[in-house]
Amino acid sequence: MTSGLHPKLPTALIALIASALALASFDVARADDEKPGFFKKLFGGGGSKTETPPEPEKKPEAKPAPAKKSKPAPEKSASKGAETGKPPRVIITTTGGKKVEIGKKSAPAKTPSKTTAKTETPKAAPKPKEEPVKDVTKSSSAKDNETPMKGEFKEDDDDKTAAAEKSKAVEVLPANGGWEIIKIGGRDYVTAESIRNFYNPVYGFTTFRVQGTHFWLGSSKLILKAQIGSQEMLINNIKFILSFPVQEYNGKVLFSRLDLCKLIDPVLYPSHIQNAEYFDTVVVDAGHGGHDSGARGVYGYEKDFALKMAMSVRTALMQRGFKVILTRATDTFITLGGRVAIANQTPKSIFLSFHFNSGGTAATGIETWALTPQSAAATISRGGGYNMNGVTGNKQDSANIALATAVHASVISRFKFVDRGIKRAQWSVLSGCKRPGILFEGGFVTNGAECQLVASETYRQQVSAAIGDAVMNYRKALESAMAKR
Ligand SMILES: [Zn+2]
Repeated sequence: MTSGLHPKLPTALIALIASALALASFDVARADDEKPGFFKKLFGGGGSKTETPPEPEKKPEAKPAPAKKSKPAPEKSASKGAETGKPPRVIITTTGGKKVEIGKKSAPAKTPSKTTAKTETPKAAPKPKEEPVKDVTKSSSAKDNETPMKGEFKEDDDDKTAAAEKSKAVEVLPANGGWEIIKIGGRDYVTAESIRNFYNPVYGFTTFRVQGTHFWLGSSKLILKAQIGSQEMLINNIKFILSFPVQEYNGKVLFSRLDLCKLIDPVLYPSHIQNAEYFDTVVVDAGHGGHDSGARGVYGYEKDFALKMAMSVRTALMQRGFKVILTRATDTFITLGGRVAIANQTPKSIFLSFHFNSGGTAATGIETWALTPQSAAATISRGGGYNMNGVTGNKQDSANIALATAVHASVISRFKFVDRGIKRAQWSVLSGCKRPGILFEGGFVTNGAECQLVASETYRQQVSAAIGDAVMNYRKALESAMAKR
């Protein structure tokens, strides 16, 4: 729009992902399913970039027609796909007998992609052996059995986990319905092949490549890049920090099952997020306030920038038809518990907390935080370590990461910021939230150039518009999954 905006990535890819999302949401068949998901304007590209090496063995005709760069046609391909095939539906029975649905099993879709022929859709889900179950949530309800967000991934006893981290005992479990599960040090991993096969009917992958420690999974819609030994994963050039490093065993690339279910699946399949609730209100939280100044920036304090940002986001959201509740509208101090209480008292809402970062003068970039999933460690030590027992916010694990993805990708794809990634922590404002929530760090006020941006009203308005669009796209992506109450 203006010179300040930077269309970092071409937009073709996103539209294609959107078509995949429409495909995926056959649960509730209706016209709305044709609407693009939250990737629509977020993941600008990746597929048309050159990071993915060509796959020599792939014949040209095996590739789906590349998207037109200027005019993606998601509706067309979506409806076409909807006619020709159904997305897979697989139910993963997790420890304790509870079920996690990460998709829907059906006959493999007859997508235009020829890769389907090579890769069979998994026929069922992996069934890991029974493990002790911990109670994830303190509160229980009659809906427990329908609420896959709780009760899953109680992989290990805590002490067992520590021991398991050290031991690297490998156990290859029998393939279950196409899912290859390999246990390393007591933790379940799934092979990249399994992931490719499961999502192939929707995404039509044409690239599956391991080169050294680098791994690529790609199609015209999506490129996922990861590295063995690393917790960083890129999906269409948006950075995600995995809960566990990517592993390798016998030449197979392995992702932790927790990352599959708590990150990859909700991001690739947001329309299947199980307990998504309709929302029309956003609780906007300006970090710090009053005697709590937050970071001391080059041109001012974090608390003041956070408040200005919150006001600007409020405007952007109201312009898009949302109701907005501010945790603070003035320079006042509110406890973290007080902020959570406001969020939890606001029905049909999601929660966005705004902060700015501090660090060395050279540190720059944007990062977005979602609550650490149960049985995982935080990305950093501050914000909590290992999340062993689960917290209230874990009920929303899938929605949290989808919301974080929508917001983070929207901002990253429009501006020239350093992408510090979508990260995990047990921030107090997130761990107590009953509803989906994220914490957004909109730049380093300790960096001169970045603080100058943060101090600019124009900048804040532009970022706020990106966030407003992200919230709309998030709601669209989850629409078919949302029970309107
Ligand atoms: Zn802060």
